[in-house]
Amino acid sequence: MSKPRPRKTGPHDHSACIDRAVNTALEICAARGLNLTPVRKRVLEIVWRAHEPIGAYEILAELAKERDKAAPPTVYRALEFLMGAGLVHRIDTLNAFLGCDAPGHAHVAQFLVCRNCHRVAELDDPTLNRVLAEKSRSMGFRIEPSALEIKGLCNDCAAHGSPAA
Ligand SMILES: [Zn+2]
Ligand SMILES: [Zn+2]
Ligand SMILES: [Zn+2]
Repeated sequence: MSKPRPRKTGPHDHSACIDRAVNTALEICAARGLNLTPVRKRVLEIVWRAHEPIGAYEILAELAKERDKAAPPTVYRALEFLMGAGLVHRIDTLNAFLGCDAPGHAHVAQFLVCRNCHRVAELDDPTLNRVLAEKSRSMGFRIEPSALEIKGLCNDCAAHGSPAA
């Protein structure tokens, strides 16, 4: 079980983050009998290019630089696989994809989405989902397990006086 680590946003050796993500993915896939094909692995690396979500067409553009036959279905199929394996999350608000910080355990994450710079922090607190599910049930509403996306401002943007909503 990998423990969630604090998300790094300042300058750091990001290649270490990519290595860690890829190695974790290889371990998880091996343990579950999943096949991390070269194109799936490459898409994972592209998603991890930074600690920010990336859109499918940006991924496609990266992949097209390296492969002749990079087409949207290639990217979507790879993303489906990576999401199914819990390695990548989809951020609906941004229509973009983010590498999971802690893919070792099943979780329904919460995302703090900066509405200014679109940086996303992953919060992984099951109690939040539980409270939400209980309150909803008391109102006769059954929520479906989906990630919670909370919009706001990150520290950097708040400090630099981003335009008000
Ligand atoms: Zn990094
Ligand atoms: Zn996650
Ligand atoms: Zn921000």
